[in-house]
Amino acid sequence: MRILVTGGAGFIGSHLIDRLMAANHEVICLDNFYTGHKRNILRWMGNPYFELVRHDITEPIRLEVDQIYHLACPASPVHYQYNPVKTVKTNVLGTLNMLGLAKRVKARFFLASTSEVYGDPEVHPQPEEYRGSVNPIGIRSCYDEGKRMAETLAFDYHRQNDVEIRVVRIFNTYGPRMLENDGRVVSNFIVQALSGQPLTVYGDGSQTRSFCYVSDLVEGFIRLMNSEHTGPINIGNPGEYTILQLAETIQKMVNPDVEVQYKPLPQDDPRRRQPDITKARQLLDWEPSIPLQAGLEKTIADFKARMEANGTLSENLLNYPSEKAVTAL
Ligand code: NAD
Ligand code: UDP
Repeated sequence: MRILVTGGAGFIGSHLIDRLMAANHEVICLDNFYTGHKRNILRWMGNPYFELVRHDITEPIRLEVDQIYHLACPASPVHYQYNPVKTVKTNVLGTLNMLGLAKRVKARFFLASTSEVYGDPEVHPQPEEYRGSVNPIGIRSCYDEGKRMAETLAFDYHRQNDVEIRVVRIFNTYGPRMLENDGRVVSNFIVQALSGQPLTVYGDGSQTRSFCYVSDLVEGFIRLMNSEHTGPINIGNPGEYTILQLAETIQKMVNPDVEVQYKPLPQDDPRRRQPDITKARQLLDWEPSIPLQAGLEKTIADFKARMEANGTLSENLLNYPSEKAVTAL
């Protein structure tokens, strides 16, 4: 098949492209490189079955494809709040343009939505039926409401124009290739621990998140895309940790000498988050297989290699993590 991946130079998109190329598909990666990077897809440059298109999805584009994985959108609060109006345009105009393309060429359309559509949830864990508790005028709403509108657009194109859609709600995902300055909690703590800086816990660290390793997520994407179910379907790892537990785990794994430093909790930061993955289990026969500790080892090894290369690694950590973890990548 010929498959378009929007946001393909980003963290999740590039892992998805690796899987699609390995399965002998033709892949078009479309990206404006706002938070994505060419190094993530460097291995496919020059391959005749891979094309890279520099394009901003807020502008229309014509391409001939069979499937569209629509991921283009900054995912970290730091990046999506940097230019919130642009975040809304990417989610609304960008998704509209990609759905228009899917309609024109009769491609199956996959939307990367988010657990953020549940906002600061009153229901725990969150099933797909839960309609969420989102502040429409807060600093996170450009992303949360933008993704809610993207879901609305997908379902309206489906009902009105028979576009085949698949909607996934992604819970916090981590792994190699996250940006060092991404601002998300896993990357922040790993970079801080590796550079010998204090781990910045926002609030008292009692808020919870559930962390899914990227290869598990991508497996869920491919199963949903090729299933007969529109979704929305939650994909995430139900293991739930407080942010302080995560800080202590990374501290132990990387650098027991670094301290925890408490910082103010950002506005509208959800108190807790845990996916109910009953639907993914029943409809896609999917569940995560990588436990947090194993996923963190691979992620730490990737960050360590990058930081060693650019000289930002704390000197007393040059022997960590083990060779075994590095070769497991
Ligand atoms: P990322 O920031 O690494 O990747 C996003 C990619 O989209 C980047 O390559 C960026 O350059 C590109 N992009 C952004 N705006 C664009 C535009 N206007 N035109 C073209 N390209 C554009 O983020 P990620 O973690 O890989 O997330 C991918 C998708 O998954 C996003 O839609 C995000 O909302 C969703 N998601 C991610 C998580 C997570 O934990 N990583 C959780 C929930 C949802
Ligand atoms: N967080 C933190 N320290 C950091 C970065 C994030 O304590 O250096 C907290 C943040 O306040 C939130 C959780 O970790 O409660 C997850 O934040 P992230 O930005 O990774 O994702 P999201 O809030 O979108 O789930």
